[in-house]
Amino acid sequence: MRLITFETSTGPALGVMPELKSGDDTFAVLPELTMLSLIALGEAGLEIARKTLASGTRQSLSNIRLLAPIPEPRRNVFCLGWNYAEHSREAAQARGKLSPKEQKLPERPIFFTKLGTAVNRPDGIIPLDTSVTNQLDWEVELGVILGLGGKNIPREKAMEHVFGYTIINDVSAREVQVSHGGQFFKGKSLDGTCPMGPWIITADELPDPRGLSLRCRVNDELKQEGTTSDMIFDIPATLEWLSRGLTLLSGDVIATGTPSGVGFARTPPEFLRDGDTVECEVERIGILRNQVQAENR
Ligand code: MG
Repeated sequence: MRLITFETSTGPALGVMPELKSGDDTFAVLPELTMLSLIALGEAGLEIARKTLASGTRQSLSNIRLLAPIPEPRRNVFCLGWNYAEHSREAAQARGKLSPKEQKLPERPIFFTKLGTAVNRPDGIIPLDTSVTNQLDWEVELGVILGLGGKNIPREKAMEHVFGYTIINDVSAREVQVSHGGQFFKGKSLDGTCPMGPWIITADELPDPRGLSLRCRVNDELKQEGTTSDMIFDIPATLEWLSRGLTLLSGDVIATGTPSGVGFARTPPEFLRDGDTVECEVERIGILRNQVQAENR
């Protein structure tokens, strides 16, 4: 199943759609529920969604406007830094720290967060305020949505905690992130810099998220291409590390890192400009398509 959050005159509403491969882009409304309240219901929530999909009146996706599947997360979006070997090397090299040969891969996952208020709709405008940043960059990532919360989750049990998957563009203001004294949090949290969606694919539809291709295109030009199999810390290892002494909650969102090909590590460096269209695609999930728009023209 696919689960969507969409805009209505009275606020966000929840919908359920058939699995992606059906090609059926109709949806049924799940009244009186939000994505977070449905996820918190666990298996009972999925059962409500299945029944509604089977019996509810269907509407066309073309008549509505999608929001991020979780437009207002309960807390920050958890993120992994340098979780793909090639990206880890290109980042170190671009910062002149180490030659690719000398670069050691991280021994533990590197966690940071993006503010929940940075979340943007799957086709939302990414604002570019050039008085703040001239180095807005792209990062296609597989997003993991937690179902069952927990603390000290062993990796063998970790996949039981996954509710589903989405796509995240971890848009990053590089000079804020790096040059302004290492302001990782702020460089990753500017308004609109977390496009998410277009939906959540439930884990039953995608039981094994390894081997999914990820691509990012800017103005139709391929910039990033990788596979989720190249994660240094896979989802079970990530959840085990993250939940050590830290209680994860149902509905938590985890962006699992980006493959190589980001703008700042290219020669010469490239960044997003006013009018650019950035597309992030993850196989078996879909595409985010966002336009960059200058805010201070
Ligand atoms: Mg990232």
